[in-house]
Amino acid sequence: MIYSILIIITILIIIHATFLMIFNFIINPYEPSFFAKIFPYQFIHNLLFSKSKLKDSYFSIRVDINSSKENVKKHNQGVLELIKIANRYSIPITFSVVADFLPALSDEAIKMIDEGDHEVISHGLNHDDITEQNQLTPIKKSKELLENKFDQKIVGFIGSRGKHDSNTLKAAKKSGIKFISSGYLSQLRYWSFPYPFKKKDVWLLGGSIKSDYQLYEEENITPEEAISIWKEAIDFRSKRGWYTQLEYHNISTSEEKLKALEELFEYVQEKENLKPITQSELIKEVG
Ligand SMILES: [Zn+2]
Repeated sequence: MIYSILIIITILIIIHATFLMIFNFIINPYEPSFFAKIFPYQFIHNLLFSKSKLKDSYFSIRVDINSSKENVKKHNQGVLELIKIANRYSIPITFSVVADFLPALSDEAIKMIDEGDHEVISHGLNHDDITEQNQLTPIKKSKELLENKFDQKIVGFIGSRGKHDSNTLKAAKKSGIKFISSGYLSQLRYWSFPYPFKKKDVWLLGGSIKSDYQLYEEENITPEEAISIWKEAIDFRSKRGWYTQLEYHNISTSEEKLKALEELFEYVQEKENLKPITQSELIKEVG
């Protein structure tokens, strides 16, 4: 008995190891999440069986206007510059906004977001961990506050530091939120997935490449290096018809970082078979 169990376990380990080799060296996806590297089945499932395979390759950028009321005020001018650059290259931006910080955002910024092809999603009522709150109230309330200020329906949500759990999905659904935007988070197993997917009737986007925060703050690299990393990741994903999401922050609006972003926007705009899109439009394409 014990021998047959040992034999079965050995066979399973060999099969798993073979799978890992095929996934990591032959399929060789570009920087998959750590979870996908050691347990690639969910990634492969998304790749093979996604009902939401896209007609084209899409690129979306989510700009988080957040961290604190002071920072929203301090970086307001940077946000205005960022929108001007995006408009020049016809790149629609998905802005995630903390409802309690709305008074710190200038009327000019609100007007420019509304007048362009940009969209707003909720980043919660405050910037505290959503999973530690009664989730329905802050999600619903923030959606209402944002809808009162912006001339659009709010259908997306992203928790503080990207955190969410199954209660977030339930609260999102009850509030009329259709998707949870995700970001480059090491604890998030699906951030590198090829396509958005649905869980409990709510879309989870995945598709992320390294964010400005990851590159500038954690890896301490220059805007020039960041550009080449982003271009390489976008190339890899778009060639395969995968979705790409870049997460960006209003605090990365220094002149040289904005210049780098402008170069990236130009690259995206000129790239064939790559369509810049807002996240709610993307959900319409896959839904
Ligand atoms: Zn945030």
